[in-house]
Amino acid sequence: MVIRKKPTAKRSVEHLHHFHCGSCGKWWSIGDAPARRTVWSCPWCGAKEKYPVRKK
Ligand SMILES: [Zn+2]
Repeated sequence: MVIRKKPTAKRSVEHLHHFHCGSCGKWWSIGDAPARRTVWSCPWCGAKEKYPVRKK
């Protein structure tokens, strides 16, 4: 008899960071993006830009 492990239900909180590209004007998002990282490449047009860290 094969005992199959039942999948466990999971829940997690995701901090979604929204970026607005200054070159193509499109929005894109990264879940749980490292807060200290400021330089990102736009997945739409590939432009590498500095995104300032938003202060609360
Ligand atoms: Zn872009």
